[in-house]
Amino acid sequence: MGRPLRACISIPALRHNLRRVRELAPAARVWAVVKANAYGHGLSNAIEAFDDAHGLALLEFDAAQRLREAGWRRPILMLEGPFEPADVAQARQQGLTLALHRPEHLDWLAEHPARGDAQRLDVLLKFNSGMNRLGMRAPALRDAHAALAGGPLAAQVGSVGLMTHFANADVLGGIDEAWPAFVAACQGLSGPRSVSNSAAIIDHPATHGDWVRPGVMLYGATPFASRDAAGLGLRPAMRLESELIAIQTLSAGESVGYGSLFTAAAPMRAGVVACGYADGYPRHAPVGTPVVVAGRRAWLAGRVAMDMLMVDLSDVPDARVGSPVQLWGDQLPIDEVAQAAGTVGYELMCALAPRVPVIVER
Ligand SMILES: *Cc1c(COP(=O)(O)O)cnc(C)c1O
Repeated sequence: MGRPLRACISIPALRHNLRRVRELAPAARVWAVVKANAYGHGLSNAIEAFDDAHGLALLEFDAAQRLREAGWRRPILMLEGPFEPADVAQARQQGLTLALHRPEHLDWLAEHPARGDAQRLDVLLKFNSGMNRLGMRAPALRDAHAALAGGPLAAQVGSVGLMTHFANADVLGGIDEAWPAFVAACQGLSGPRSVSNSAAIIDHPATHGDWVRPGVMLYGATPFASRDAAGLGLRPAMRLESELIAIQTLSAGESVGYGSLFTAAAPMRAGVVACGYADGYPRHAPVGTPVVVAGRRAWLAGRVAMDMLMVDLSDVPDARVGSPVQLWGDQLPIDEVAQAAGTVGYELMCALAPRVPVIVER
């Protein structure tokens, strides 16, 4: 059987979470965000689970090509737009929708012109609503819109829409300035609007517009610091599972793992789990991070190693070699592990390493 570590991806859970998006934003079309290998869940699983979505969104051009080769015929939005002029040519060939976030991108459209109507690109002009990462401010946005919608570049494009991405949709009052700024910048401009990430889909229905862009919620994790995924009606789509491959019996004063970071206060058993940071488990997870062994809560004891981690089995007296371990999943929310490790569920799911075998549940 080999090493017992595996990631189980649940297609029904992914489907459920997409249905949850549709419940929350019934009037909007959905760009299911599948960047970073579908947040670690696999592009082919995403295609299968999100066949109800109106489009897929990502930023990697090689992955967009794979989506087309895998038979995805509906829209694909490139969230970071073209990185170089040649990307425009690929977008035309493969029918990709481009976010345009710099005025130079309009020159690139002219550099790789449409050969026939079939090569007209759908585009979304990106407004900088205060994140100051990607996007144009209002004057440049309006100039770009004028050039594309009925202006000199009109023959290069099909639909011309407007988008923005919030810096703080997950905190109370976090869009109080950004949302009115977007509305004002787009005043009177034609075209579909796409604004809402997961947090805005859940908390800011006024922003839903024509297309929403859910990411993390599709995978069953929370976009918020202090509201859990289950309470939002989401189901975890990834379980990271392994087994105990050894058990050490420690006397008081004996230590576990590199750096002897954990020392037994009393006689105890330490379980050794086949999972380490080379699998994507966070090395910085501290002693005390929850781990589920044989269905019961146990705790990380000692420093996470490349291929193994150790757990305190004091609360799992019936644990033995071969007992099942869940690092995150339905018995242990990924967000809880992330919080213990000082990060977010997003990072943990994206970090799942290629060496971990994936099992797909249908
Ligand atoms: C990643 C991303 C999203 C999805 O964000 P979540 O918080 O995962 O829902 C939406 N829009 C853009 C532009 C993104 O980069």
